[in-house]
Amino acid sequence: MRKINHVYIDGQFVTPHGTELLPLFNPATEQVIGEVRLADRTDALAAINAAKRAFPGFSKTSKEERIALLDRLSASFTERLDDLKAAMVEEYGAVRGVVDGLLPLTPGMFSAASKLLESYEFTRTRETTTVTMRPLGVAVAITPWNLSIAFVAQKVASAIAAGATIVVKPSELSAIQTQVMIEAFDAADVPPGVINVVNGRGDVVGDVLTTHPDVAKVGFTGSTAVGQQIMRNAADTLKRVTLELGGKGPSILLDDADIPSAVSAALSSGFLNNGQTCFAGTRILAPQSKLEEILEAIKSAMPAFKAGDPRDPATGVGPVVSQKQFDRVQGYIRLGQEEGAKLLAGGEGRPEGLEIGWFVKPTVFANVTNQMRIAREEIFGPVIVVIPFKDDAEAVSIANDTPYGLQAQVFSSNDDRAHRVARQIDAGTVLINRIIGDQEAPFGGIKQSGIGRENHIYGLEAYLEPCAITA
Ligand code: NAD
Repeated sequence: MRKINHVYIDGQFVTPHGTELLPLFNPATEQVIGEVRLADRTDALAAINAAKRAFPGFSKTSKEERIALLDRLSASFTERLDDLKAAMVEEYGAVRGVVDGLLPLTPGMFSAASKLLESYEFTRTRETTTVTMRPLGVAVAITPWNLSIAFVAQKVASAIAAGATIVVKPSELSAIQTQVMIEAFDAADVPPGVINVVNGRGDVVGDVLTTHPDVAKVGFTGSTAVGQQIMRNAADTLKRVTLELGGKGPSILLDDADIPSAVSAALSSGFLNNGQTCFAGTRILAPQSKLEEILEAIKSAMPAFKAGDPRDPATGVGPVVSQKQFDRVQGYIRLGQEEGAKLLAGGEGRPEGLEIGWFVKPTVFANVTNQMRIAREEIFGPVIVVIPFKDDAEAVSIANDTPYGLQAQVFSSNDDRAHRVARQIDAGTVLINRIIGDQEAPFGGIKQSGIGRENHIYGLEAYLEPCAITA
């Protein structure tokens, strides 16, 4: 049993003032694997104060000093990759493809920010005006449990590059990942108070961090409902917000797409991270003229998405994160059938041979209309719907008929046609014949998928304020 009883404030591992203990589970076994002592309001205030004290000095550091710090962070996270991977598998059932494929991008976020700084101009002049890009003060990062490290790294890398100090509140469900992460921060010799990490409940610690007048900016990744609450909290003191929220991404298979490879990619996107990915393509849009062929191809491809032990390299889909999420996803699978959708694969209950663990049968529904709740709401589990369309115009209209707008995929063998369709999709990112984006492109949503962008220069400038002096 692990006992996690430290937060990281002012460059020190400290025992939280908070005394609430939260059990930690392995979702593949339902066993309690540890316990975390949660921070409280007093701890949140201490972290904000530490970041506030560190800001005047850190905001005046040179680009070279911050480049060196970002390089140390990249090296330190590279060093701990195996421990981070193990924590992701144990704590939320991440499968091999995700830990090996996506986690290594994390150290790269620090090195990309370091490289960007080399050429970034913080001061620009125009006639008699000097514009200085100034770090905006104390920032806060609030993140979900899925791919926790990557979402923290994205925000911390931008804040450090900008010269802002930061308080990170990861999800209370990712305490083991958080523990490794704070050790990696500490090993990078971060000046005291520049990066602080407190765990704790959203409505306690998160509430303080998003309402406190000394916090200038909140970078949030999580659900749309919590994002809306954070924006309300931030309004009184006009904090800057970047909100990376939920999605219901379409994967559009145009009628000239190579069906076997497009189907395999679309299923990989929908089931990515056990179906718990904001940018997952959970709606497959299929041309009516090729519908039967596509449904057959989905059935043939399903064995690659077998549910099972996340430690087994052959497993395609691991468990969902909690009993609560398991019940919620089961509810949606029931609802889909009640709404008249037809099960093409999966269904209610646990997969055969997996009596223990929060495993869901990887599920695909056919006969779905875009008005059904299973097509409109983010399920956050391995459930994909297939919706037919007549022509490209109808595909675009169905793709855009959603409250979300995070990421979409278009599959086609004709570049011009794919780009023509992509340009009409209302989403922060549209990928053509691929399912993972470019790390240096802006990432973020439109509509209820969020506000603002992360990554590269777009992420950096979200931690800077352009201030002008005109003589
Ligand atoms: P969540 O919104 O429940 O929690 C996210 C974080 O917010 C946690 O740290 C939580 O403690 C905190 N929080 C909760 N209530 C709060 C409050 N009142 N004030 C401040 N903080 C509060 O999300 P989750 O269940 O951890 O993650 C799943 C959700 O995250 C899904 O909706 C998914 O789409 C979304 N997500 C979005 C992205 C993206 O980049 N757009 C990426 C990953 C996940």
